[in-house]
Amino acid sequence: NFPADTVPQAPEDPLFGLMAAYRADPFDKKVDLGIGAYRDDNAKPWVLPVVKKADEILRNDPALNHEYLPIAGLSDLTTAAAKLILGADSPALTEKRTHSMQTISGTGAVHLGGLFLSKFFPGKPTIYLSDPTWANHKQIFSNVGLPSAVYPYFSKSTKGLDFDGMKAAIAAAPNRSIILLHACAHNPTGVDPTPAQWTEIAFLLRTKNHFPFFDCAYQGFASGDLARDAWAVRYFASQGFEMCIAQSFAKNFGLYGERAGCFHFITYPGPNATQTISRISSQLAVLQRSEISNPPAYGARIAALVLNDPVLFAQWEDDLRTMSGRIIAMRKALREKLEELRTPGSWNHITDQIGMFSFTGLSEKQVLELRSQAHVYMTKNGRISMAGLNSGNVEYFARAVDRVVR
Ligand code: PLP
Repeated sequence: NFPADTVPQAPEDPLFGLMAAYRADPFDKKVDLGIGAYRDDNAKPWVLPVVKKADEILRNDPALNHEYLPIAGLSDLTTAAAKLILGADSPALTEKRTHSMQTISGTGAVHLGGLFLSKFFPGKPTIYLSDPTWANHKQIFSNVGLPSAVYPYFSKSTKGLDFDGMKAAIAAAPNRSIILLHACAHNPTGVDPTPAQWTEIAFLLRTKNHFPFFDCAYQGFASGDLARDAWAVRYFASQGFEMCIAQSFAKNFGLYGERAGCFHFITYPGPNATQTISRISSQLAVLQRSEISNPPAYGARIAALVLNDPVLFAQWEDDLRTMSGRIIAMRKALREKLEELRTPGSWNHITDQIGMFSFTGLSEKQVLELRSQAHVYMTKNGRISMAGLNSGNVEYFARAVDRVVR
């Protein structure tokens, strides 16, 4: 018999605990800065207008059915998704050196990539994660048997990139390690390398024969410009790296619960590339079959429709600018309020950082005071979701921060 009573209690997911505490708080001015999902200026979820339109088109399609998608997913999505991240004219695509699988959003793509690498990457590779990184990375990789280590990333003193620390750790890692990189809008810090720094990182990875694994959860959502947010990935691809990419459509389409995403594998240029890709795709299909059989259809159809229709695509770009624009405006407003209040410390990092999150530099003690004194909910590491700020609460939040910092 399975001794079920020996199963230990798992620690509570800190983010879900935070959300529950927020929901239970009756205070009318409470502020939720924990949630990693876009909110409009009224603190409400926002269905992108282009998604509404695509939804209507799909619902009125008499040919729509509920059959299984192929194991690799909807090819209209995977093909367009590869072009979106790599650029339509990428040599990796024209030389047919890529294979793409539709996955259970970005999480599923990270998982499928981890599983694939743990089975087929030669030796016992370690995957190097930024310190800090998305809370789920470590457990996803450990669940598939990939040991992880960390490289320094965030400088507490500058609240920017610890570039020297990052480079030193990547240089010290054994040759042919796997290096996980956030493509843009690093979660949780909001700190990205500059193009010049990415160039150095690529050179270092090349020198060490490391394998880059890009996690891309915010393309277009970060800057409002799809190409700009894909710069690092495209640069690495242009340098002929063998690499993989996890791509999420949760944030940039607002399709969080529909679980639309893709995993892309790119192999080296060369005469064997097509055969390599064919073998890799056969193995990925086996893994996918045993894990999920077939990926979910609905969100994939929405995203595919938008990605393949020039008019809808242009509207999507507008919607991306709406979301990223509001977040950038909130960064500006928060910094201005804190500077107006002469809150001790420097606050330029709020506008220097990019994307959904900001690492404020607030201590755990200050975070807890913000919760008990002002009903502001954020993770203990001082991360705030910029999407939780709006024109109605940014001043309230700034004043609350001012009080706990003094
Ligand atoms: N990777 C990073 C860095 C993220 O921030 C997220 C979401 O917060 C994901 C992956 C995966 O998200 P999803 O599975 O909802 O696409």
